[in-house]
Amino acid sequence: MSNDQGILVVISGPSGVGKGTVVDVLIKRLPQAVLSVSCTTRAPREGEKDGKSYFFISKQTFLKMIDEGGFLEYSNHFENYYGTPRFFVEQKLSEGRAVILEIDVDGAQRVREQFPSALLLMITPPSREELVRRLKMRGTEDEVLISKRLERADYEMSRSKFYDYTVINDDLDQTVATIIKIIENRRKAIK
Ligand code: 5GP
Repeated sequence: MSNDQGILVVISGPSGVGKGTVVDVLIKRLPQAVLSVSCTTRAPREGEKDGKSYFFISKQTFLKMIDEGGFLEYSNHFENYYGTPRFFVEQKLSEGRAVILEIDVDGAQRVREQFPSALLLMITPPSREELVRRLKMRGTEDEVLISKRLERADYEMSRSKFYDYTVINDDLDQTVATIIKIIENRRKAIK
């Protein structure tokens, strides 16, 4: 949703494209922006903190939250659930904030169905080769999982035509500056 009280900004992109870093810098540079922390049933990776990267919850708790309507949207991939807690997003929108969701393409589609004026941004790598290099560099996953993530990446990027903007993440500063400009322009347009 975007109205004069708040704007919902969805950021998607293939695993390894650097979305996490882009979003971290974006939040620091755009004072009215706030990040929605998703819930997931996957195990934390090294360095990930509960409540910051994700809320790491059990499958049982996740299913209960689905039943209670606690998610704005959720997806299941690589046998794990990922979902956007509804309450936080609605509260921050009503406070006039720019709420950033870092979610996959399926989730983005469900957000658009509920909030037609949400701003959908797709982040892509400079090339597929660069994505392969970044995924391998991360070094936290084995070859099988890397190739599954690449398959998924191709699917995600094939959906970019449904997004409002595609931003190529070549240079971090430039990427964040472009996203800030897009958000500010949208806010001006809806005032
Ligand atoms: P990862 O396991 O690498 O952190 O995330 C895998 C995928 O799940 C990424 O594409 C990420 O954007 C997506 N994701 C993270 N949180 C959510 C969420 O709340 N909802 C949906 N639909 N996707 C999410």
